[in-house]
Order: sequence, then C-alpha cells, then structure tokens
Amino acid sequence: MTTVGILGGGQLARMLALSGAPLGLRFLVLDSTPDACAAQFAPLLEADYRDEAALADFARRVDVATFDFENVPAESAQWLAERIPVFPNPRALSVAQDRLAEKTLFRELGIPVPTFADIATRADLDAAATAIGLPAILKTRRLGYDGKGQFRLRSAADVDAAWAALGAQATTVGLILEGFVPFQREISVVAARGRDGEFRTWPLTENWHESGVLSASLAPASLEVALAEKAVAYARRVAEALDYVGVFALELFLKDGEFLANEMAPRVHNSGHWTIEGAETSQFQNHLRAVLGLPLGSTRMLGQACMLNWIGAMPDATPVLAQASGHWHDYGKSSRDGRKVGHATFRADTPAELSAALQTVGRELDRELQVAPVIDRLRG
Ligand code: ATP
Ligand code: MG
Ligand code: MG
Repeated sequence: MTTVGILGGGQLARMLALSGAPLGLRFLVLDSTPDACAAQFAPLLEADYRDEAALADFARRVDVATFDFENVPAESAQWLAERIPVFPNPRALSVAQDRLAEKTLFRELGIPVPTFADIATRADLDAAATAIGLPAILKTRRLGYDGKGQFRLRSAADVDAAWAALGAQATTVGLILEGFVPFQREISVVAARGRDGEFRTWPLTENWHESGVLSASLAPASLEVALAEKAVAYARRVAEALDYVGVFALELFLKDGEFLANEMAPRVHNSGHWTIEGAETSQFQNHLRAVLGLPLGSTRMLGQACMLNWIGAMPDATPVLAQASGHWHDYGKSSRDGRKVGHATFRADTPAELSAALQTVGRELDRELQVAPVIDRLRG
C-alpha cells in the first residue's frame, strides 16, 4: 500500500486524493487548519509546516511527498527531501514560489517576460516606476495567490498608496514591480513531467480572470499551431531546467502575437480542472503517476471543455446537472468572499453545443457576465 503525503489540504489535495483512489493509493495531508477540505477524503495531520516533530511524523507515515500549496517553506521541503522522495524537488518549489527567481529563470531560458524590477526600498520603487513606466503592478515576491498581495499603479500619484499598502513587506516577503501588459489573451500550459523525463502537455487553455481570480477556462485555446508549439516549448524548457517532476502550469500573456510569461505554479492548476472530465487522463491522475514513477497517461481531449469557477458561495447545482455534459464540483468549503468554493465543467463535441450549454447555465444562474467572454471566443 503506497501512501502519498500532500503538503497543503485545499481543493487541489482533495481532487488528488479522489483521483488516486482508483490507483489504490492512500493519502496523508499536512495542513495547519482543522477544516482543510481535503480532510473529508484523506487523513489530516494538523500542524504547522515548520513543526519539525510533525514533519518527522509525516515523513515516517508516507512513501512520497508532494504539494497542494506552493508556499510551503522551502526549508521544510528541503528537510523532507533529505529523508523521503519529494516531487517536485525543493529547488523547483523555491524558484516557483518567488516571482523574482521565476522571472529571472524564464529570462535566462530565453522566454520573454514583462519588464520587472526587484524592489527593496521606496527609492527602488520610485526609480523602477520611472524606468518601467506606468501603469505597472507592485506584487509581493512570495505568498501571493488569487491576485492577493498586488497593487496596481495607474499613475505617479499611486506610488505613495502602493508603498503604504505593500512597503512593509519589502523586507519580509520581498516586492517586485512589473510593467502592466495590455495583453489580448491569457493562456496557460498545463504540463506533466515524469521521473524519467517524459514530458506531456494537455491542449492549451485560455483563461479569464475577475479581480485577479480565475473565473473561466476554455480548452483547447484556439491558437495558430506555431504559437501553440512555442508555448509548449517554453514549458518544456522550464521543466527541464528545474528537473521538474509532476504537473505544473505556465501562465502566459499573449500580446500582439507574442507570449510573455507571467508565472508558473509548481502544482496541479485551476486552469487544468477541466481535464477531469475533458481529457483521457486528468492533471490529478498524471501528477500522481509522475511522482510515483508510473507511466503518464494520454493528455488527449475530445471536443471542447469549459470550466467555470464558483467564487464566494456555491450556486444552485441543478442547471449545471441538467446539461448533458455538465459536471459539478463542490469542495465542501464554507462560503467566504473571494474564496474558490467549487467549479463546474462542461464538455461538448462542437463549439455551438458548448455555447448553448453555457448560455443556458449563464442565464439560469444569473452568470451571464462570467460566461460571456467564453461564448464570444467560441463564436470565433
Ligand atoms: P494565481 O491565482 O494565478 O496564482 P497570483 O496571485 O499569483 O494568481 P498573478 O497570476 O500574477 O497573481 O496575477 C493575477 C492576474 O492579474 C493575472 O492572471 C492577470 O490577469 C493579471 N496580471 C498579473 N500581472 C499582470 C501584468 N504584469 N500585466 C497585466 N495583467 C497582469
Ligand atoms: Mg500565482
Ligand atoms: Mg497567476
């Protein structure tokens, strides 16, 4: 009996555990919150990631460890990796959890990135705002997710407010200023790399965000073949440079026919949730196969898939379930503003069929604005 340890007990760990059940896997989730939603399906070791006694207990009880959460302290990942197999490796995790390190790596690998500057002081921010130009986004280097830890600067008058909001974090988690990219589209590459170096990607996904939080994803993203190949090549370059094992996502902005890399997520990714019903093998299943050294499954998809995130509170399931290809995912979380509490996936053989399903569900759930950009794209 193989036990997979997961650091972090959110919906990603929950979906990993659900996906691993048919493989006969056991799980152990380490999380500091007693109501971690993965705990409904896997035993929970409730402790801080820095608690060495808990880490030792975790290491004794699992065969391999992986992450649901990229902000596990790098030292804890390293401590574990000295005792048990940990995938992805701690170096990959530490690069991916620091916006400065990941953008520096992308640039070294010849992957275009938005202009950026490391910000340690108020004087750095003034200088960078001038050098990069405004609008720009001040972001924490670490610990940000769902658009948290970001401040948008529209003009020089916003510099004071940006520093007041985030300046104190310059000496704790670090700050980075990024030029604002007026992109046309956002695309993600969800990729899997096995222990033996085998590399696969799912069809590329187009994503739409609302207030910095993923709102909808559509796959396959309609892109020229040469452009799609470029995105896949970038992801492969990153995976090989980090000797990455497992699933990860590379988020790209598409601007004037060119990709700029925004960030990578060293884990299964929200923009890959559609693979549960939409692909031959889901991102969760392939992540487990990768970390266990098993053969990766095909990432082929049939037709198109759209995922809608439920943020804050779960809507009524009925209109989704009434669709022939409507799939419901309730993470079992309590409602809270801005929180990802569930998602729905729709799969269809044709764009027209998918549009029709989205239109109906959008109307019945009063989510017309959420489905509108996807329907527009499907119309071509
Ligand atoms: P995630 O939940 O994806 O981990 P995050 O908190 O790490 O989010 P980012 O991915 O950096 O944040 O930003 C969230 C969204 O904000 C992006 O998907 C994009 O829509 C927008 N955004 C971020 N950086 C830029 C930029 N430099 N120019 C334009 N838009 C941006
Ligand atoms: Mg992120
Ligand atoms: Mg992001």
